[in-house]
Amino acid sequence: MQVAEVALGATAVDRFAPIIGSGRVDLLHAHLDALRHALDGRTIWHVNSTASGGGVAEMLHVLLAYERAAGIDVRWVVVGGDAEFFTITKRLHNRLHGSGGDALPLDRAAHTHYQRVTRSNAEPLLARVRPGDVVVLHDPQTAGLAAGLAARGARTVWRCHIGADAPNGLAEEGWSFLRGYLDDVAAFVFSRQAHVPAVVNGAPTRIVPPSIDPFAPKNAPLAPDDVHAVLAHSGLLARNGHAEPARFRRADGRLATLRRRADIIREGPPPADVPWIVQVSRWDRLKDMVGVLRAFADHRARLGEAHLALVGPSVAGVSDDPEGQQVLAECVAVWQRLPVAARRRVHLVSLPMHDLDENAAMVNAIQRHATILVQKSLAEGFGLTVTEGMWKARPLVASRVGGIQDQIRHSESGLLIDDPSDSEAFASALGSLLAAPEQARRLGEGAQARVADGFLGDRHLTRTAQLVTDLLSAG
Ligand code: UDP
Repeated sequence: MQVAEVALGATAVDRFAPIIGSGRVDLLHAHLDALRHALDGRTIWHVNSTASGGGVAEMLHVLLAYERAAGIDVRWVVVGGDAEFFTITKRLHNRLHGSGGDALPLDRAAHTHYQRVTRSNAEPLLARVRPGDVVVLHDPQTAGLAAGLAARGARTVWRCHIGADAPNGLAEEGWSFLRGYLDDVAAFVFSRQAHVPAVVNGAPTRIVPPSIDPFAPKNAPLAPDDVHAVLAHSGLLARNGHAEPARFRRADGRLATLRRRADIIREGPPPADVPWIVQVSRWDRLKDMVGVLRAFADHRARLGEAHLALVGPSVAGVSDDPEGQQVLAECVAVWQRLPVAARRRVHLVSLPMHDLDENAAMVNAIQRHATILVQKSLAEGFGLTVTEGMWKARPLVASRVGGIQDQIRHSESGLLIDDPSDSEAFASALGSLLAAPEQARRLGEGAQARVADGFLGDRHLTRTAQLVTDLLSAG
């Protein structure tokens, strides 16, 4: 199996100062310095199974660049797998979220295949890692690597970004599968306390919520004209005389011109100035894109002129997610059966993933253009799309599940729907916000303040630096 090292930049954390103040920057410097000393020349490795698409990849690109600029030798390796492996790990992912997924068993054959792929990933990974290095394994795709790494003398952290809010039999099936692979893990990290499973059994465990980077192409400020130009050039909005090239700034600071267009299934471009209801997500069943579409179509009469955009990565672009194609196809099938008046108001948007900065610029513009952002997930690890929307001061309507409920305070920084399958409550929240722009604005402001306080990269880096420093000093 091929493993690939992802190229990382180096970015000084001082640029956070205007947003978070010098006190928080100093605190971060102190933690990064302590970590560098504790490492004493050793390397931190992060290992996951995709360099693009999804929240983990999103965070590693930016956070590791800050650590590198602080003189920490941190690297990122992406392990491989065949279609069968990713079908098994997606099954596992769904079970750990407490959901049935493809309903097939996690049986002996699944273990055999999981172990076979793990062994072939272990060989090239172990050739890189030295005794004493720290290896952070992300999510179920990498858990099997812990034993070999421990035998090599590495300290292994397993970071699980998913979990069920309340344990159930399905989640337990997932943990039974993983249990035997986690024996040699030195410390566990979860995004929220409720996601810590019984298998951890007293081993050192930290809670580290994820974060966003306010300077990344996905979150950096965009002037209204630039938002419009990006949307016109990517094909979401009619060009209306926008012949100027759409520009965006890359992660390395260079200006670039948008080259690709989104792949959009719809009847035609929307009229100018209609309100937009938008969900940005991977085409993952637990994000419930189909549910958003049905709720919008069923209750459209109370949503005025609003249009709906369901936005996800091009399904060919997320290598570790075999469900994407099916979920998009289900959305298309539901859309095709809508009455034409409803169909005209729905846009199924797949964004090109060839150039991650370009993809991020499109997501940025789409989130900023949204009148309301929704995240109707049935289960959620943390929900970075929520954080991204909140940071852009957008009003959010989202399910009270997983980390979404740690981010949004109901009625202060967004609206939470208690039961994610309650499309009536969902549509009613959308209708009320469309009718009350002042309330929407107030929620957006509350949302931005909440992210500034708790979910920017400095908080995340401080917590992870502390974790690794403690691990090393514990010997
Ligand atoms: N995302 C993206 N392009 C897309 C759709 C999603 O870059 O077309 C990003 C999104 O902006 C977010 C991440 O994928 O940063 C999804 O993270 P989240 O925590 O919401 O969910 P996950 O996919 O990890 O379950």
